[in-house]
Amino acid sequence: HKHIDHATPELVARAVESRDTHAVIPEYETFETYRGDGGYAMLEELRAGSSTPDEVQDMVLASGLRGLGGAGFPSGRKWSFVRMNDGPRYLAVNGDEGEPGTFKDRYYLERTPHPFLEGMLIAAWAVEAEKCFIYMRDEYPAVLEILRREIEALEQAGLVSEGYIDLRRGAGAYICGEESAMIESIEGKRGLPRHRPPFVAQVGVFDRPTLVHNVETLYWVSKIVRNGPEILSSHEKNGRKGLRSYSVSGRVREPGVHLLPAGSTILDVIEAAGGMQDGHTFKAYQPGGPSSGLLPASMDDIPLDFDTLQPHGSFIGSAAVVVLSQHDSAKDAALNMLRFFEDESCGQCTPCRTGCEKAVKLMEADTWDQPLLEDLCTVLGDASICGLGQAAPNPIRLTMKHFPEDISQ
Ligand code: SF4
Repeated sequence: HKHIDHATPELVARAVESRDTHAVIPEYETFETYRGDGGYAMLEELRAGSSTPDEVQDMVLASGLRGLGGAGFPSGRKWSFVRMNDGPRYLAVNGDEGEPGTFKDRYYLERTPHPFLEGMLIAAWAVEAEKCFIYMRDEYPAVLEILRREIEALEQAGLVSEGYIDLRRGAGAYICGEESAMIESIEGKRGLPRHRPPFVAQVGVFDRPTLVHNVETLYWVSKIVRNGPEILSSHEKNGRKGLRSYSVSGRVREPGVHLLPAGSTILDVIEAAGGMQDGHTFKAYQPGGPSSGLLPASMDDIPLDFDTLQPHGSFIGSAAVVVLSQHDSAKDAALNMLRFFEDESCGQCTPCRTGCEKAVKLMEADTWDQPLLEDLCTVLGDASICGLGQAAPNPIRLTMKHFPEDISQ
């Protein structure tokens, strides 16, 4: 792959050397502080029998909580699917936040790791998980160190037995954020997505029924159980319920994580991010990672939530919003997205492995061969095993549809 820098011995030595110094640990809420504030009391009460798993599952359903890693599957229903299958069961946390532009999980973990950890233990209690695996991306050294410390504090406090929470490090492969590839990686194998069915709720980690949740989803589980489902369901905007943590970057004044009602439009998101930077006019946006492609500024009234963008050939995914201005080319952005897919394709299936490479070549031309690209999109979408290849056409098709002037230059 020509886009990957060769790892010279000097580069490797520098990376190894800087490993520890990279982990500058920010100020965060420790176990003592969280515990002092009533943290883990709910978990202890549940374990003592204050509510049944059914009651807690109903509460999560009532809140409307959906999988915030990008798939948006109703969390309470996921629990019931896992519980349908005989144990032993496992819980696996997807902390492989590799979607370009997404940094919300990191944001929460570097500030307040315990709502997530307590949410994970509540979910584990509800599905009677024998063990929890946390699959955390290695590019987050501070998060890894915080989790190491705080899991040890949980063990010392007797809230979990030693080894109950197994912290696993990813190795930089984007595809390991795909849940079945993550499970392969947890098992010590190469991270190749599996065919479905069977679903991971039936056959997951080491072939056991597995509840897979994203970090932020579990963060909200503890908030819901502690404060009631209204903490999410009471927020309503444009007919949508709940809250979304938008990771906002690009040509805005205040990039960062902005927590807004789920029905917010791109204009609301830009406003929350302090507006456009001086000299920049809003031209286009990526609503949820490169797989969601680019939408034009004229489509500024769509609630950025699950299900609302599908009719437009896009989706919200992990809510990684990138704002582009008149200084950015949609063609360059789409090419960048496909180069990313080309690099990160796991290579398991031909349509994606070869298709992404061919797409990049076609998109590097001065003028795009649109009929040929459209054929390629059909093959990618129809014949790829997993979401990476299936969604790779989105940036191509949306750019052809909405930015014709950019691709004929
Ligand atoms: Fe791998 Fe791409 Fe096939 Fe997914 S679609 S299994 S990433 S080659």
